[in-house]
Amino acid sequence: MPHSTFQKRLNTAMERAGLKQADLVRMASERGAKLGKSQVSQYVSGKVVPRRDVMALLADLLGVTSSWLSGAGPDPAKTSPATEPQPQPTTQGSTTMREFKKSSKLDNVLYDVRGPVVDEAARMEDDGARILKLNIGNPAPFGFRAPDEVVFDMRQQLADCEGYSDSRGLFSARKAIMQYCQLRNIPGVDMKHIYTGNGVSELIQLSMHALIDNDDEVLVPSPDYPLWTACVTLAGGNAVHYICDEANEWNPDLEDMESKVTSRTKAIVVINPNNPTGAVYSREILEGIVEIARKHQLMIFADEIYDRLIMDGYQHISIASLAPDLPCVTFSGLSKSHMICGYRVGWMVLSGNQRCMRDFILGVNMLSNMRLCSNVPAQSVVQTALGGYQSVNEYIRPGGRVYEQRNYVYEALNAIDGVTAVKPKAGFYIFPKMDIKKFNITDDEQFALDLLHEKKILITRGGGFNWAEPDHFRIVFLPRMEVLKESMEDLADFFAHYHQN
Ligand code: PLP
Repeated sequence: MPHSTFQKRLNTAMERAGLKQADLVRMASERGAKLGKSQVSQYVSGKVVPRRDVMALLADLLGVTSSWLSGAGPDPAKTSPATEPQPQPTTQGSTTMREFKKSSKLDNVLYDVRGPVVDEAARMEDDGARILKLNIGNPAPFGFRAPDEVVFDMRQQLADCEGYSDSRGLFSARKAIMQYCQLRNIPGVDMKHIYTGNGVSELIQLSMHALIDNDDEVLVPSPDYPLWTACVTLAGGNAVHYICDEANEWNPDLEDMESKVTSRTKAIVVINPNNPTGAVYSREILEGIVEIARKHQLMIFADEIYDRLIMDGYQHISIASLAPDLPCVTFSGLSKSHMICGYRVGWMVLSGNQRCMRDFILGVNMLSNMRLCSNVPAQSVVQTALGGYQSVNEYIRPGGRVYEQRNYVYEALNAIDGVTAVKPKAGFYIFPKMDIKKFNITDDEQFALDLLHEKKILITRGGGFNWAEPDHFRIVFLPRMEVLKESMEDLADFFAHYHQN
């Protein structure tokens, strides 16, 4: 088949379906198929014709037949009365099946931390490349181990964890969480309002589904940990982003926050300490947020999963401790502080004004019961983990791995001409800014792909955190110092000549 026929048909089908190259990459990845951005771009420009299996995938995504797309079959637009190409039944063996598309509820959901650039990295790995992954806060691959006591205790208790627990969680786990809340001055916490989950992730989704009606609005930070925006959207709501101000240590811009409250706003999400910026909010900022919530009668959802990873002597204040009169939901877990994100255990605690949350609590209970319970072996170590000696403190003090690696990456990034970064006060992430004029950057996904292709370094683009400008990216500084040094040298080398086309 001549390249030009395929190229023409591909472009026609994309135009008819209203799909861009990035849409095809995304749709393929959502189906678990590998389709790189550069691959698609080569097909669109007619340089390459895909293999048969990729042809079938493209045809499927575009709702046309493989034979037409490859140049063999008739144009569906000319043979069918409809002007749009109609989805063609796919045939496998003797059964003709209709096509199953993903729910349109997912259309506006974004989760780039494991998105298309990550798929391209996986494709490169399949081809034998070694990729340095600075894209995900997963401590284990970088040599951070769970405290021995936690592993020992889980092993001891495994035989007793075979059944479902109470849907909210084991008594011992919830008691330990309750005591933890007391230490953090969170008022009025009742055992029945503590829920364990398969990570904070499950509880973010559960709580948003329990609260949100179609078109309700939730104030979410920009940049955010993107699961929040995704879960608000998936629950039928609109995430309205308030700005966190880089010029002011990435603190929330309270004026901007309040200006975005409307009659549909139900809640404010606060991520403190923040991912991706590493900011830790002062009492004054938190009181400002509480004031806005009080004035406009909003719930507060506080994601505090990094609350035990604070450096430089800063103090973490739970916003719920400042809002005893307001409905608050506070989230935390062991994924980061105990380096056991694979065990999957987190929790959510309802505090403050419980009266006004009565119906919401019924919804939370219903959804909690429906998932039966969270992972019981992981719940069994919550008591061990929260009590006694906290080994994580060794990582975050001077001389500790997280502390020293943070300092190094901060210095190294700021030494690159055209790159600046605010020093993170907590967590594992830094969110540097690029001079987009100097590097001619208009598309941060392209930047991430260019860096991946040239230096085999995988980062997450700023847009992946619902940041509107293409001028930021996030680095995870968990790798060992030798690896970080090499990667920062590579990054400096990359920026020394990078100019986006
Ligand atoms: N919240 C924030 C801010 C995070 O950064 C993450 C993970 O990176 C999570 C929640 C999810 O944590 P979990 O492993 O408990 O699901």
